[in-house]
Amino acid sequence: MSTLPMLAHLVTPGSKVKLSDYDTRANAGLDKDQGEALLAPLARQIDDLQELLYAADMHSLLVILQGMDTSGKDGTVRAVFRDVSPLGSHVTAFKVPNEEELAHDFLWRVHRAAPRRGQIAIFNRSHYEDVLVVRVHSLVSESIWRQRYQQINDFERLLAENKTIILKFFLHISKEEQEERLIAREQDVTKAWKLAVGDWKERERWDEYMHAYEDVLKRCSSEHAPWHIVPADRKWYRNIAVAQAIINELKPYKEQWLAKLVSVGAEAKAELAAYRAEQA
Ligand code: AMP
Ligand code: MG
Repeated sequence: MSTLPMLAHLVTPGSKVKLSDYDTRANAGLDKDQGEALLAPLARQIDDLQELLYAADMHSLLVILQGMDTSGKDGTVRAVFRDVSPLGSHVTAFKVPNEEELAHDFLWRVHRAAPRRGQIAIFNRSHYEDVLVVRVHSLVSESIWRQRYQQINDFERLLAENKTIILKFFLHISKEEQEERLIAREQDVTKAWKLAVGDWKERERWDEYMHAYEDVLKRCSSEHAPWHIVPADRKWYRNIAVAQAIINELKPYKEQWLAKLVSVGAEAKAELAAYRAEQA
């Protein structure tokens, strides 16, 4: 696996992004079978790291997934975290805000879903909708959504300074691939429930969305909460790209998590020994 190049594109903080420069069909020279075979060992590594994260109880992990309809946010969650214990992870899907959520600041509902120490939180859509769909549909005035980039950066810095490891993924599909997936949904009885007229309507605003995403990627990628652009026309590539980036980010923590486990274990043993000595 060490020979595998980085599959997702890290967005350098402050750099300008033109999404059309990024190939949505990248394959890293692999075919589908090879790519699919790579997922199992990566998913297992994520499970191992999650167990350590949980036991060490020093950090939390927040994974944010964004992308157009059908870009594969649900599928990514299922594939990448397939070996992770439900005990240590939680997925939140952010929908159109309800009345109570709208009566608060836009980060209120998001902050409540942030991961507690030792846990993984996965966001299927996120606070970024408040500068994406909200911007494209002018749901608030420009002066309001413009302030939000800074507010988002401040919020994410707060989380990071409180030991939340944050990774953000933009699942980048082409407009053609989306059309194929929408049509496939119609034809598959097990997928038709996901159909929404809105998906076709949003599609008409594709360019506006791409522009809004480019602003997000440029303004909100930071050292402590980096954005990754994930070529996502091929589902197997998307899955291993996200898994690989998560592993790369978590690996450097492994040593300190293990050290914490050892010291907590030693303390527990000493207590037990003292208890036994008292009983004797
Ligand atoms: P889905 O992900 O297909 O279940 O759809 C969820 C819908 O909720 C999408 O159309 C999002 O654009 C919409 N949504 C999520 N967050 C917000 C928000 N803050 N404001 C408006 N719409 C939102
Ligand atoms: Mg949808």
